[in-house]
Amino acid sequence: MATVLIKNLDKHIGEEVSVRGWLYNQRSSGKISFLIVRDGTGLVQGVLVKKDVGEELASLAGNLTQESSLIIRGVVREEPRSVGGYEILIAGLEIVSIAEEYPITHKEHGVDFLADRRHLWLRTPRQTAIIRVRSEIEQSIRDFFYENDFVLADAPIITPAACEGTTTLFELDYHGDKAFLSQSGQLYNEAAAMALGRIYCLGPTFRAEKSKTRRHLMEFWMIEAEMAYFDMDDNINLQEKMLHFVIRRVLERCEREMKTLERDVARLEKITLPFPRISYTEAVEILKKEGVDFVWGDDFGAPHETAISKYFDAPVFVHRYPATIKAFYMKPDPENPAVVLGADLLAPEGYGEIIGGGQRIDDFKLLEQRIAEHNLPQEAFAWYLDLRRYGSVPHSGFGLGIERTVAWLCGLDHIRETIPFPRMLHKMYP
Ligand code: ATP
Ligand code: MG
Repeated sequence: MATVLIKNLDKHIGEEVSVRGWLYNQRSSGKISFLIVRDGTGLVQGVLVKKDVGEELASLAGNLTQESSLIIRGVVREEPRSVGGYEILIAGLEIVSIAEEYPITHKEHGVDFLADRRHLWLRTPRQTAIIRVRSEIEQSIRDFFYENDFVLADAPIITPAACEGTTTLFELDYHGDKAFLSQSGQLYNEAAAMALGRIYCLGPTFRAEKSKTRRHLMEFWMIEAEMAYFDMDDNINLQEKMLHFVIRRVLERCEREMKTLERDVARLEKITLPFPRISYTEAVEILKKEGVDFVWGDDFGAPHETAISKYFDAPVFVHRYPATIKAFYMKPDPENPAVVLGADLLAPEGYGEIIGGGQRIDDFKLLEQRIAEHNLPQEAFAWYLDLRRYGSVPHSGFGLGIERTVAWLCGLDHIRETIPFPRMLHKMYP
């Protein structure tokens, strides 16, 4: 007899199978008990008819508490009215462990209560759906890069210098030396791209964000790609192709999860290529039209990004930001050096920036000058300057935040549910 996953029950109709899982819920109507079992892939209703299974098994079932672990055995049948669409007529039941009184019941709980019990909250259908979508997103990104001749080149987590500004650094002691948790793998990616051509990394990044928002975590996962001989347009073209691929994969393979999350998938389905592209200056015009008080040269905050993205049904690229608000390594636009050849991608529906990217400075003298202007330690960047010393080429790259992408594709209003164990301001338990 086969042990099957609940999500595959449709392939076993009429067969006797066993399912290994946990008791999610139960109800009883005297002669019949309904055991709703979860196994991490879905829910199924086990039907236990007392007169068929006998007193012993029936009383065994009577002792089951929520989240007790169990193995049920029986024939699968279609039952459109039951959760998941299938039922198992229970012929055998093995109790693996009886759970103590479970703190998360089927009534509503506050988010703080749930967050303190994240290790258990993860078991609920909504949370497992989110993590499954997250997994599909990461897998599809890896597949995309693999199919497009990219090499995975993992960047270090422990680094000797800042990359994205010194205010959000987590410091640590490295055998007596100062070190920092990585805020971005970009600088290392540039070195790897000069070695391999097209590379990406997918790993955790760390930023000691000082403010509490619904889109910032202290530890988040970023997919970062870097491409030799790519200019700004090549970069943007690649990003939209990748993101479109990811959206299609999630729509194809996460239908069940999207249903659980009650996500309006029509909004994702109508996203087509190419994505709209506007300049920072045009974005400022939109804000002015909207009556938002905004000065050219300032950086966009969340409300600005929302106001801009409302103009579009698809993600929108905003390019050529003022050089003063972007990182030191961004290449100035030769036609207007006040702006840089970078672009951020703003997700629709108010989800804000999900990608930051751009073309990097490839000129040795200019990069050296920028490092000095930003008061960065010259020694720490000596190796980075070497990349311009030995065979420098135009190159570009980007970083996409996994959690913000999950929040958007799942339609969540807070980033805390997008990762199994979120690290937030003043909160890292469990
Ligand atoms: P923001 O202005 O929203 O703080 P950023 O400009 O600091 O973003 P980048 O440095 O360009 O972001 O990082 C690239 C991507 O990483 C962002 O587009 C976003 O998707 C993600 N990201 C950045 N900071 C965080 C964070 N604290 N938590 C989760 N994701 C983040
Ligand atoms: Mg930031």
